[in-house]
Amino acid sequence: MEKVRVLIVGSGPAGFTAAIYTSRANLSPVLYEGIEPGGQLTTTTEIENFPGYPQGITGTAMMEDLRQQALRFGADVRKGIITSIDLSQRPFKAVVDHQHEIEADAVIVATGASAKYLGLESEAKFRGMGVSACATCDGFFYRKQDVAVVGGGDTACEEATYLASICKKVYLIVRKNYLRASKAMQERVFNTPNIEVLFEHNTAEVLGDEDGVTGVRVVSTSGEERVLDIMGFFLAIGHHPNVEVFKGQLELDEQGYIKVTPGTSKTSVEGVFAAGDVKDPHYRQAITAAGSGCIAALDCERWLLAQ
Ligand code: NDP
Repeated sequence: MEKVRVLIVGSGPAGFTAAIYTSRANLSPVLYEGIEPGGQLTTTTEIENFPGYPQGITGTAMMEDLRQQALRFGADVRKGIITSIDLSQRPFKAVVDHQHEIEADAVIVATGASAKYLGLESEAKFRGMGVSACATCDGFFYRKQDVAVVGGGDTACEEATYLASICKKVYLIVRKNYLRASKAMQERVFNTPNIEVLFEHNTAEVLGDEDGVTGVRVVSTSGEERVLDIMGFFLAIGHHPNVEVFKGQLELDEQGYIKVTPGTSKTSVEGVFAAGDVKDPHYRQAITAAGSGCIAALDCERWLLAQ
């Protein structure tokens, strides 16, 4: 059976940063890219808030840069999905694509989280062309325009308030007749004059043309239809951390994210470290994921050294 020092699962900014650091520490990491090589950033368009890219960069190009940087230091980057893993004893045993077995002294979990989408065909069609699940990433492209946000939780309220500061008008589309968000967040929404909350409304169709989104057709629970003329359509209906293969083995928090010892990347299993969105329900930024990939690599290196 193949045996490695460090197995990294996931290929977003957290996974690749962990690969850069562990390969520079001569730990010869093997990184499996997973279902979505490059992670969530490959589904966004331009990234303008990652330090070091003064002109901005596309998500795909940035992830390719990170990949090349990891390869340059000898990281073994492979296509493949970890389909099962046994963390009950060391070395840990993982199975790739239901076939290849691999043993690892340490594991860095950087499998990320996936934004939830409504599941409409028209929404998928305009993804990256006006449909986005990250207002912090993409809101800037719609400054002084009208936009809509779907959801009634803290994220939706936070994103609606953020967008209201740069956009002309923000519609908040809420399926229930109340917001689930905290009272403070609700007040911010209600006190922002250019946010219009549409309670008891659902999205029927995202409208657009070859240039992207031009509007959205919403339907109230009483059956009334309305078309909102907007250029940006933001989903804020939650994320789910990608933890399926680790369930029952790593301790998770009440929202299903991997629990780590605060200020570190240490999970409930010694020798297993977590980085990026899979352990972070709050910040979810490329730069915070990259930073936590670095932390995981350093924790992992020190732990291996102490063995
Ligand atoms: P939540 O799960 O809290 O909220 C999701 C929202 O999306 C709910 O209003 C839900 O509606 C709605 N929704 C879900 N599915 C659909 C659908 N198919 N169609 C329409 N609406 C839908 O997720 P959040 O991302 O907002 O928050 C996650 C966690 O992070 C929470 O614990 C939150 O408190 C926390 N958080 C805290 C922040 C802060 O403190 N600053 C900022 C952001 C998040 P319904 O209510 O009807 O179920």
